[in-house]
Amino acid sequence: MSHAKGLIFLGPPGSGKGTQAQLLSKQLAMPHISTGEILREAISKKTELGEKAQFYVYQGELVPDELLLDLIRERFNQNDIQSGWILDGFPRNVSQATFLDKLLLELGKFSEQVINLEVSDKRLVERLLLRGRKDDTAETIRRRLEVYREKTQPVIDYYRQHCRLTSVDGNHTLEEVTASLKEVITI
Ligand code: ADP
Repeated sequence: MSHAKGLIFLGPPGSGKGTQAQLLSKQLAMPHISTGEILREAISKKTELGEKAQFYVYQGELVPDELLLDLIRERFNQNDIQSGWILDGFPRNVSQATFLDKLLLELGKFSEQVINLEVSDKRLVERLLLRGRKDDTAETIRRRLEVYREKTQPVIDYYRQHCRLTSVDGNHTLEEVTASLKEVITI
């Protein structure tokens, strides 16, 4: 059986994973699934999810798993992603990573590659302050980086232990990083 391809993008806030995921999604014709975007849209539309998530997003905290897991499961059942996808912003803690592993095993049709974008702290803060999204205040940025170290860094270790991690240096220009990503992506 031929496997459809999934890319999981990991990296701290400001690493450029959202930008790169979006670009590659167009170039490789693989739909981009961004939990951050899904949440921001839900917040602006004031849906039930949005109302529940808002508090966490604006504090720089992770939204509780129970708000996201069903949503991810449903997203993976939709038609548009059956021949490939790029996931960005999920998993963000080890329980989300084990959930995703189980889900993908259950679906049984994807071979996934995990890519970690590495960027120095100094650059991260510079980029986030320039971006100026509503959750990009100095205080939230500090908290998001803390949450990243506490909760998401272990996800990187999790994939590394399972020998499923490709790291890419994200300290370069947008174009250079896209080129490096294309070199390591094995489609
Ligand atoms: P960034 O990676 O730049 O911080 P994202 O757009 O990926 O931004 O996420 C924005 C916010 O949405 C996060 O700070 C968090 O509050 C929430 N969020 C996104 N994905 C998840 C997730 N998988 N689990 C919990 N919260 C999430």
